[in-house]
Amino acid sequence: MTDCIFCKIAERKLPAKILYEDNTAVAFEDIAPQAPVHVLVIPKKHISTALDIKEEDNALVGHLYQVANRIAKDKGIAERGFRLVMNCNPESGQAVYHIHLHVLGGRRMHWPPG
Ligand code: AMP
Repeated sequence: MTDCIFCKIAERKLPAKILYEDNTAVAFEDIAPQAPVHVLVIPKKHISTALDIKEEDNALVGHLYQVANRIAKDKGIAERGFRLVMNCNPESGQAVYHIHLHVLGGRRMHWPPG
């Protein structure tokens, strides 16, 4: 999608600190980290929100979790614990309309989230 910043990152048209890439997914450092570890995992395919995930995307979305697990292990936070978040639509705080899993860790997470 032409106006999507995460599509541009996936296409390497915008800079990002990319930690992992394969045929269908990319993981990169969040530009405004909210925790010592804050990585975003995105599909290369443009999907605007969680509500737009179709049956045909099930394997792709499952793969995002596999990539997130890999990031958590690589960053050394897997055993301590980490949080995976996908915001959906305005009240959740979704700001970028290309689905992404936030991988957050390296500090104690609070519940309920703000
Ligand atoms: P959300 O509010 O769930 O849509 O999260 C969007 C996230 O994208 C925020 O945590 C932003 O800090 C992050 N973000 C926005 N632009 C960039 C960028 N160019 N590179 C890396 N992260 C970004």
